[in-house]
Amino acid sequence: MPELPEVEAVKRVVEPQIRGRRIQRVTAHNPKVIARPGAEEFCRLVQGQTFSTVDRRGKFLTLHLESGDRFVLHLRMTGNLLPTPGGHPQEKHTHLVFTLDDGSELRYIDLRRFGRFWLLRAGEEDCFTGIDRLGPEPFDPAFDAAYLAGQLARRKRAVKECLLDQSIVAGIGNIYADESLFAARICPTRPANTLTQEEVARLARQIPAILRAAIQGKETSPEEYLASGGRNYRGSSFFQVYGHGGEPCPACGAPLCRTVIGGRSSVYCPCCQLPLTKER
Ligand SMILES: [Zn+2]
Repeated sequence: MPELPEVEAVKRVVEPQIRGRRIQRVTAHNPKVIARPGAEEFCRLVQGQTFSTVDRRGKFLTLHLESGDRFVLHLRMTGNLLPTPGGHPQEKHTHLVFTLDDGSELRYIDLRRFGRFWLLRAGEEDCFTGIDRLGPEPFDPAFDAAYLAGQLARRKRAVKECLLDQSIVAGIGNIYADESLFAARICPTRPANTLTQEEVARLARQIPAILRAAIQGKETSPEEYLASGGRNYRGSSFFQVYGHGGEPCPACGAPLCRTVIGGRSSVYCPCCQLPLTKER
């Protein structure tokens, strides 16, 4: 599933390609991806409007229109937002096509079809998408050790489950929870309320650092992005532990363990990320 760095990569590559472009026509091959309003009304309201800026909040994208209307989009498991030149061969699982005034298109492609679009009118309050229930962005000054300590102290769940809770911090999924906990040398199964102050401080420092590095690593050109069908931003070459269960830990060489936490596959180093608090 695309997480904060992947969604940020999509925002950065898509925004300059659609900004200022007028939507001539919208074709909904699969109305299911439009959550609000109905597909027909969605297409009618959007036709003739002009794209403005694109914002990211957690794993959500907001595509602003010059009128003040906006779409909110969640890519969920396999969604791709792909600007293409006119006449570019259409990928399988293309559900929505915005035809733009220069003949290019903005396409929504989604193998599993869990991604959703919501259209909100100018000034309309968002109580539909879930954005209003998100916790702070990891780069927000409000996300600091004191904030995280307060959140973790009243929870007995595994610390990894807390990092996946979008109401505690927005944008982290399975990949960057594992990567952040490895960087902070904290075992993902540790009950959140057993972390020491020092551990919480390390985690609050590592989360934005890991996400920033991932965003940098995912920078892509429009050409590369198009050639990959909008998928190359999911590259994983720099992951330290995620997807590397059974391989040697990059820090100490011990075999990385794989376990399941809250139904999610998790990888950690049993030596660097001790399950119990210990003086180091
Ligand atoms: Zn290790």
